[in-house]
Amino acid sequence: TPPELIRNFCIIAHIDHGKSTLADRMLQLTGVVDGRAMRAQYLDRMDIERERGITIKSQNVRLPWAVTQPDGSVKEHVLHLIDTPGHVDFTYEVSRSLAACEGAVLLVDAAQGIEAQTLANLYLALENNLTVIPVLNKIDLPSAQPERYAEEIAHIIGGNPEDVLRVSGKTGAGVKELLDKVVAEIPAPVGDPDGPARAMIFDSVYDIYRGVITYIRVIDGKITPRERIQMMSTRATHELLEVGVISPDPVPTVGLGVGEVGYLITGVKDVRQSKVGDTVTSALRGATESLGGYRDPRPMVYSGLFPLDGSDYPLLRDALDKLRLNDAALTYEPESSTALGFGYRCGYLGLLHLEITRDRLEREFGLDLISTAPTVVYTVTMEDRSVHSVTNPSDWPEGKISDVHEPVVKCTIITPTDYIGPVMELCQSRRGVMGGMDYLSETRVELRYTMPLAEIIFDFFDSLKSRTRGYASLDYDESGTQASDLVKVDILLQGEPVDAFSAIVHRDFAYSYGLSMTAKLRELIPRQQFEVPIQAAVGSRVIARETIRAMRKDVLAKCYGGDITRKRKLLEKQKEGKKRMKMVGRVEVPQEAFIAALSTD
Ligand code: GDP
Ligand code: MG
Repeated sequence: TPPELIRNFCIIAHIDHGKSTLADRMLQLTGVVDGRAMRAQYLDRMDIERERGITIKSQNVRLPWAVTQPDGSVKEHVLHLIDTPGHVDFTYEVSRSLAACEGAVLLVDAAQGIEAQTLANLYLALENNLTVIPVLNKIDLPSAQPERYAEEIAHIIGGNPEDVLRVSGKTGAGVKELLDKVVAEIPAPVGDPDGPARAMIFDSVYDIYRGVITYIRVIDGKITPRERIQMMSTRATHELLEVGVISPDPVPTVGLGVGEVGYLITGVKDVRQSKVGDTVTSALRGATESLGGYRDPRPMVYSGLFPLDGSDYPLLRDALDKLRLNDAALTYEPESSTALGFGYRCGYLGLLHLEITRDRLEREFGLDLISTAPTVVYTVTMEDRSVHSVTNPSDWPEGKISDVHEPVVKCTIITPTDYIGPVMELCQSRRGVMGGMDYLSETRVELRYTMPLAEIIFDFFDSLKSRTRGYASLDYDESGTQASDLVKVDILLQGEPVDAFSAIVHRDFAYSYGLSMTAKLRELIPRQQFEVPIQAAVGSRVIARETIRAMRKDVLAKCYGGDITRKRKLLEKQKEGKKRMKMVGRVEVPQEAFIAALSTD
């Protein structure tokens, strides 16, 4: 297809504003998926995406679209649509999709208006020099207020409120007009058709049958099957087994030219060999200059992952290896805990990434897992000037600390003006510093805060939602680090520290963390034969204490003189229970106590 007939675009929006549903209508309207094969959120292919109703991986699809010219003739165009996830954790997925496009459809729910991630995605699109087509969606809803929100959009991105398209992904209203506008307004791709081949990798997925499938967008030249290709960052060359387009299933083609989006298969088995952001060229007479890359996704949140049944440890490693084939952002290394045994310290992009990873491990690999409280990455400088990067409270260095830096984020909150007070209070209680405030309209406001990431990863979003009756939306982006007065709080059972309960907290919150954790454990740990003190300590200083009183636990006494089978049954039962006990020094702690104490919800 000649480049002037190609349009590459993506749909960006706040979560739930209807991207996947609109993509469904486009698939139908262009005849790529017929009515019978249609199912809702067609492009959300993973089970977990379908169940949660959210998009995790970006998808791309090629759509034919005929536009009638002013002279009455009809011109066949090719549209490449890239559906993107909207959640903050997956911003890096959005940014790589954007780099493969010339334009973006900015979708706004006509009953909700602009939300925090609408803005974040809009700014990403503008940074990538994309042509933005603003669209109001869900106009079929009785609660839709298109006039009001068209004003809001025009206020933010300029232009006239009347020019904002109104569509419904549900009924299909306005979708034809939208596709025509995509052709009319989004620039065609430009590149050198005769130059050495250059294509950017914007995604790669692992398929058990076919190996790694790499999604590319060709910038210059042509990629043809049965030639060798080279990955420019590593200089590794691979034989090409297949080149094709997605429409909506993979269809092999004779090659991909300038501006085209499609896939290639090399037989490579690991997505890390096919690095997102890398440039693909021909092995023979290839390009010498690569295309600019993307930033590598960097884990922001760490947490320990342990199998409930210690013998599942090798299974867990195997499962993580398999998951990583499809998730370049997931990191893990072995960790051992006195309380929880052997497991892995995993790095994630954010909490949703953590939750989804754990969910997939449990579901797809049949594992029962326990995860420890998430932490961010702290940089600890000692008085002797040595520097430690700490992603686990148990790695907190001993000795004289000179300073501690923690990551901070810039966060944007959009809320109805009625809730400004409660939102500001919440942010202040989480060590937030206000950066500014802008009115989107008379009734809605955007608040900007700089806040430690560690304060956001503990139920901040839930607190925000409950204080604003669900009306506020949140987005955040990393923004360097700041020095803070942080300490490590240890929890001790009978003088023995329990590593899984240690936490790094701001000095002002150490006392309340110690109090709540010791109180929680006193409820959860059963009485033992002896008295068990539970203490919270910062260094050697105890800041809170509870005691579990001793009890004579003598099950056999109950059936003294009773019959022998009953006695044996009781002993069996006790043994069963023991298996699920973990020893901390001399103290037996039921596994349920760990799970309950560590659960964040
Ligand atoms: P995404 O997160 O942006 O991909 O949003 P989805 O496409 O998954 O849609 C979120 C929810 O909004 C789903 O329950 C859809 O059925 C619903 N939805 C999407 N578009 C429309 C629309 O035009 N009208 C109505 N009434 N509901 C819609
Ligand atoms: Mg979606």
